[in-house]
This record gives sequence, C-alpha cells and structure tokens, in this order.
Amino acid sequence: MVDRLVVIGASHAGCRLAFAAREEGFEGEVVLIGAETAPPYQRPPLSKGYLKGSVPLAALRLKSDAAFAEARITLRLGTTVTAIDRAAKEVVLAGGERLAYSKLALTTGARVRRLSVPGADLDGVLHMRDLADADALAAAAKAGRRAVVVGGGFIGLEAAASLRGLGLDVAVIEAEPRLSARVFPPRLSEWLRDLHEAHGVTVRLGAQVVEIVGRDGRVAGVRLADGTKVSCDLVVVGIGVIPADDLARDAGLAVDRGVLVDASGLTADPDVAAAGDCARHPNPWAPRPGAPIVLESVQNAADQARVAAAALFGRPTVHDAVPWFWSDQYDAKIQMAGLPDPDDEILLRGDPASGRFSLLHLRDGRLAAVDSVGWPQDHMAARRLLATRPVVDRARVETHTGPLADLCSPG
Ligand SMILES: Cc1cc2nc3c(=O)[nH]c(=O)nc-3n(C[C@H](O)[C@H](O)[C@H](O)COP(=O)(O)OP(=O)(O)OC[C@H]3O[C@@H](n4cnc5c(N)ncnc54)[C@H](O)[C@@H]3O)c2cc1C
Repeated sequence: MVDRLVVIGASHAGCRLAFAAREEGFEGEVVLIGAETAPPYQRPPLSKGYLKGSVPLAALRLKSDAAFAEARITLRLGTTVTAIDRAAKEVVLAGGERLAYSKLALTTGARVRRLSVPGADLDGVLHMRDLADADALAAAAKAGRRAVVVGGGFIGLEAAASLRGLGLDVAVIEAEPRLSARVFPPRLSEWLRDLHEAHGVTVRLGAQVVEIVGRDGRVAGVRLADGTKVSCDLVVVGIGVIPADDLARDAGLAVDRGVLVDASGLTADPDVAAAGDCARHPNPWAPRPGAPIVLESVQNAADQARVAAAALFGRPTVHDAVPWFWSDQYDAKIQMAGLPDPDDEILLRGDPASGRFSLLHLRDGRLAAVDSVGWPQDHMAARRLLATRPVVDRARVETHTGPLADLCSPG
C-alpha cells in the first residue's frame, strides 16, 4: 500500500502542511501539487510592494528549492487536480494521470469573485489573486493613467494605494456606505477614507457599478447606478473571494461555502484534511464562539495547516490560535488581532490624527479584538493579551499611552 501524502494547492497552507507533515515525523512520500507554474510564493506583497515594484519576485519565495529537497517534498507545479477518487484513494490530474494517496490535504484556497455586469469581460478589467494577476495589473498601470478600483476592502484599497504610488489617478467605488465595513468599525472606515482622499484618491461610497463601458473591446470607464460615468483605462475588481471547494464537493465531502472541517482540520473522512482559505472550520474567536467560519489570512492558513498535518498523522489538536491580519496602505500599517463583531463596544486609544491609534473591541465587557494603526506594539500585545480575554480599565483608555497590558486585568 502506498505511503504518500498528497497536498492539493501549493501556496501558504499547502507549503506549511507539507513541511508540518515532516515535523510530525511522517517518513512517507510528500507530493505538493500546484496549478500555478511559479514556485510557491507569498501572496500579500502582490497588492503592496510587488505591485509598486519595490519588492522583487525573488523575495516572494515561500521556501527555497533546497528546503523542499531537504524535506523530501516533491513539487509538481503547473499541475491541476481535476478529481478525487476517495474509493480508490487516488487523485486525478489534468491529462488523466492518477496518483495514489494514503493521506490527502486540500489547500486549494479561493478564487476571485467576478462582477456580473455588462462589460465585465472587457480587456483591462483585472483582478488581484495571483502572480499573473499582479503582473497583468503592473503592466496595465504602466500603460494607463486612470484606474477605477471596484471594492473598498483590503485588496481594493491596497491596490488603490499602490496604483496611486505609481502615479495613476485612482477612484475607489464601494457599494457599502463606508470602506471595509465588513471588518472595521465606522471610526476606522472614516480614517481610511481620509487617508485615501489625502493621497488624492476619489472615494465613492454607496455606489453601485452597473456596467463596464468599453471602446474597441477595451475598458473606457464604469457606469454607476445613478447614471454617472467614471472614465478610466483600467478597472481592478476587488469584491471578495469564493472558497475553492468544488473538488471536495465532487468527491462527496461536505461543503458549505468552503470545505467543512472539524477543529483539528479533518473532514468527515479521517484521511482527508483541509486548511486555509478553502476550509470552513469552527473557530473559538468567531463572534459566536465555535461558529464555522472561513478566515482569509496567512496566519490562519499557516496555523490551520500545522494543526491539520498533526491530525492527519494521528495527533489531533485544536485550531484555536488568536486570528491576526495586517494591511499596508501608503505608509500606514493597519493590524488586526481577534475577530470583530458589529455589536462590539469600541474604545479609542491614541489619536487618529497622529496616525498612531488603536480601537479596542469590547464584547461582554471583555477585550475581544484590537485594530491598530501605526502601533505595532499594541498589535503584538493584543495577540498575547486576547488569549486571556481581559477586562479593560475604561477610565484610562483615552489617556494612557503606555503598554496596552497596563490597561488589562483578568477581571
Ligand atoms: C493580493 C493579496 C493580498 C493579501 N494580503 C494579505 C495580507 O496582507 N495579510 C494576510 O494575512 N493575508 C493576505 N492575503 C490573503 C492570503 O494571501 C490568503 O489568506 C492565503 O494566500 C491563503 O492561502 P491558501 O494556501 O489557503 O490559498 P491560496 O493562497 O489561494 O492558494 C491556493 C493554491 O491552490 C492552487 N489550486 C487550487 N485548486 C487547485 C487544483 N485543483 N489543483 C492544483 N492546484 C490548485 C491555486 O492555484 C493556488 O496556488 C492577501 C491575498 C491576496 C490575493
């Protein structure tokens, strides 16, 4: 019988899982299969330094060839898995080859959500998920002068900041009444809007794109629901992602906008795990603790992959790491720890005008999440402190500028 771990998807989660299998003492074969042709790379810089040209391609590599060789991980790039045959314990590759597995991991990530309006397929309508997308956007930015970014979430706003840095005129079109409304409290949305407007970006809120207008097959502008046309040479669509769960669904595994896994990262089939952007898992940090959620972050991909590898090889643990995330826009570093709930009580610490402040989220009177801008010490402290769900000394939050820990007690 074959003794082989097959990992489908060679990115943040897949790489971590493959290496973690070795850390778990697995001595069999490890095959990491990825549809992309580039060696596994870091995705976050794509909309930041790589797009701006300040971070070279070589710096994106997740692991060197030597590291893969040393860990005896076979990389099969430019290779797409088209099906999983769980009865035979084989994966089917494009072209028909079948590869047997004893353990299987799904780390297939997510795909971009596309606009469904007339003109969405025109030349110059671009997305931002992988290296090819980033290269296409960088090339379009060189040739263009005016960009419209559809979507005021992280990806859209990072792309807007980078394109602005490259000298383009940029307009951000957001359907919600404020920026990044899904993840940020109003105070931070307002601060972000000010930040982008101060850099010369036009921000249009509550605006719906109803058509991408073309000329000679190329994008020439976008039309909004109120009839306004915003002219541009390129459109970046950043309206979210969809978990890549079709392989799992077709293989008879349970999916619900993501592959359903337990707290250890296993599906209902004990030989099949899933991790990263494709996996919906019960998370103790969710606003409703333990609710199944998909977390789209590098930290989640890495931590969940490590836990999933342990479970596959007989050492089930629980994926309960404090979630954290970051976004770089212009010179601002925005860092989040914990998961927000729209009903959180928000306390402001520091001065937004200074570019150094934190928003403390209180839930049931206890610290549940912290958003920090230009205050990495607060972010690092929050990641540590949140694990204990401390009580916050409200009376001192506004005035105390020392360590966050000084404001927290077990309560
Ligand atoms: C532009 C951008 C900026 C980001 N910035 C940040 C940030 O600042 N901080 C942060 O924490 N997170 C950020 N993220 C999110 C983070 O990159 C993702 O959460 C992370 O990449 C998830 O890793 P993953 O391995 O689960 O999935 P992915 O990175 O999506 O990788 C999945 C891989 O699986 C491959 N695949 C899929 N199906 C198959 C198949 N059938 N056969 C073979 N291969 C397959 C795909 O080609 C892909 O390479 C950013 C994402 C993007 C796109």
